Amino acid sequence: MLTDFTNLPIGTFLEDAKGRLAAFNSKYAKTLGLGDKSSSGDKISSLVQSTGASSDINGGENANWREYLSQPDKNATLADWKKQCKTGKTIHIICRLKKASGNEIWVDVKANPAYSADKSLTGYIGTLTDITNQKIFETVLERFKKAVEKTESQIIFTDPKGIILYANEGVEKTTGFSSAELIGTKAGRLWGGLMDKDFYTTLWERISGQKQPFSAELINKKKTGETYYAEINITPVLDATGQIEFFVGIERDITYIKEIDKVKSEFISLASHQLRTPLSSIKWLCELFWQEDVSKLTADQKEVVQKVQNENERLIKLVNSLLNVSRIEAKKITVAPEQTDFNKLVQQTVDSYRRHMADRGVTLTENYQSDLPTVLLDPKLTAEAVGNLVSNAVKYTPQNGHITITTKRDKAGLVLSVADTGIGIPINDQKHIFDRFFRASNANTTLTDGNGLGLYFVKWVAGEHGGRVWFDSKENSGSTFHLAFPITPKS
Ligand code: ADP
Repeated sequence: MLTDFTNLPIGTFLEDAKGRLAAFNSKYAKTLGLGDKSSSGDKISSLVQSTGASSDINGGENANWREYLSQPDKNATLADWKKQCKTGKTIHIICRLKKASGNEIWVDVKANPAYSADKSLTGYIGTLTDITNQKIFETVLERFKKAVEKTESQIIFTDPKGIILYANEGVEKTTGFSSAELIGTKAGRLWGGLMDKDFYTTLWERISGQKQPFSAELINKKKTGETYYAEINITPVLDATGQIEFFVGIERDITYIKEIDKVKSEFISLASHQLRTPLSSIKWLCELFWQEDVSKLTADQKEVVQKVQNENERLIKLVNSLLNVSRIEAKKITVAPEQTDFNKLVQQTVDSYRRHMADRGVTLTENYQSDLPTVLLDPKLTAEAVGNLVSNAVKYTPQNGHITITTKRDKAGLVLSVADTGIGIPINDQKHIFDRFFRASNANTTLTDGNGLGLYFVKWVAGEHGGRVWFDSKENSGSTFHLAFPITPKS
């Protein structure tokens, strides 16, 4: 019988019953670092006749994989081989070899006994596979598992199809499913499914289609059926050819944070409501002083009443801002857009600040593009947002400064620009300027009258209308805030 195993993609060898190498293919030689050769032209007439060493690579003895066994496990491996030979079944060992080059590799050796027609053992046909990469991966994985086993976050590994290969204790603790229940299932099948279909489609497209990490907040459920809020981050790990090898998912249970956030918002909302009534009463009582016979008040008393009124106005503003924020977060503000004359809305808002500008010695230039189309806006919310930009320009521009208000139509839609020659925003603070409660360092130290909620509101209003807000600013030179709304055709 002629056997040709030249092109087999797996290292293959034949040896006699005493372990003397009879033949091997080129993949076998390559694995041992012996070059691109094989014995006997890869053609052997039969195992029985080929008990001698093959001759074309430094003598067959040098090609016997046993010669390359690494110390110190050499003897143990040979003993194991012998022991397994006695079973008459497939022999399987995993061992380290020191290649001809001196490099150490891990190999997987499997061999089956071969028998002659009279059923006597003639030798073994075996395979030799380099599993170094797999071994490295397993070692790294083992170390990684040890590191993440006890971490509080939930960590899973899945194969490229999303089937769970590993789940740490955090997953068991949070979901209530044991590792045994989780492994082998599709990630999320046991604890997910509560978000709408689009969410999962986007997630899968991002990690599997685009091979990019995905982060989001979502709601999941435990084995008990109880729901929880989680923050997830899933990252595809790619091999050298750019194919997905596995996914690593990290999840954090944020139910507690969400609950605190909810309680905080409810508290702000309740407190603001409760504060509104007494503040309105104070406002009304102060106004009474002016309506009564004012001359009865001395100059000092008038000043005191004026101060009370000013402070009361500040409080009313703060309470209104806090209410706005809590309503935005609770999604309780209704946006009611209607066709609006943008210039008129801006001009009316600016009018309400003219006195304030004059008091501060700030001059004003207005450039309104005349032929602007009407635009779909909630007039009340938009006027409040425009008012925040104008009042900031006045507030952050010192005496004798200048403010320029411009409206125009450009590719972004209708754009309002409010430019001032004020204190500007330090470069390091610029990225946070639309965050809730954020105030730039220069504003915080020089002007205590502020709460950092105005721009947060402006950004929200812009977003609700499909528009946007942005700015250019340089510390000590001034700032220009732009607010743009898309032009929607009248239906
Ligand atoms: P605040 O009540 O503090 O003015 P905003 O949310 O309206 O709150 O603004 C946030 C921060 O942005 C301000 O505290 C200030 O640091 C900065 N800022 C806003 N507008 C201007 C401006 N026109 N010039 C300089 N800084 C500004």
